[in-house]
Amino acid sequence: MSGPTESEQAPTPAATDPDPVPGGVLGAALAAAERGWHVFPLKPGAKTPALHGYDRCPRTGVCADKHLGWEQRATTDPNRIRSAWSARAYNVGIACGPSRLVVIDLDVPKPDDGPPPPWLAAEPGVRDGQDVLAVLAERAGQPIPADTYTVSTASGGLHLYYQAPQGVQLRNTGGERGRGLGWKIDTRAHGGQVLAAGSIVAGRSYRVLAVGTHRARIGHRWPRSAGFGRTHSGDPETS
Ligand SMILES: [Zn+2]
Repeated sequence: MSGPTESEQAPTPAATDPDPVPGGVLGAALAAAERGWHVFPLKPGAKTPALHGYDRCPRTGVCADKHLGWEQRATTDPNRIRSAWSARAYNVGIACGPSRLVVIDLDVPKPDDGPPPPWLAAEPGVRDGQDVLAVLAERAGQPIPADTYTVSTASGGLHLYYQAPQGVQLRNTGGERGRGLGWKIDTRAHGGQVLAAGSIVAGRSYRVLAVGTHRARIGHRWPRSAGFGRTHSGDPETS
């Protein structure tokens, strides 16, 4: 976790929405940690880590033995969180891997962007990541796994949070590349991070839209498999 002396200078965020999460970004960090999610500081108003990278490692303090990156330094310890976030209004990064999360990031296109030709031809109604997910779910014969913790992003997209499947380590995907799910859908897992609700980018807040009556668990071959099994909120991992 960063100390106050380690952060780089970052621009002060622009005027912000009123109090999207009680207690501002510190409250946001504590709330995420209370859910068992490992957090680390991002530059105020930005998406980039406030912790030093490998190239600038001083090889002192927490890095005395070897450099530790944000994924290793992310924490659920409220004392370390209070200490770090009392220094500056850092945005809140959630390290998905140690948090055992897979987050589906449904994006909206910029004005000059549109679905690629295969989508245009096959599914003319598709306009954004949410639409693509709906089509994928329909093709897989599964309901959209929407009854889960959901955050609206600063750019108008959605983050759907799922428990990572057991026995396999999922990593990030981007759009349709490689194992990606589709146009305007990214996934964040090991090696990935998402901004927690209460973070602010360009003056706009990430906001909790739904906490979900259940916490969905996602299958590692989704959407091809029937991997939408769910666990009740009393599950030990969900407290
Ligand atoms: Zn280091």
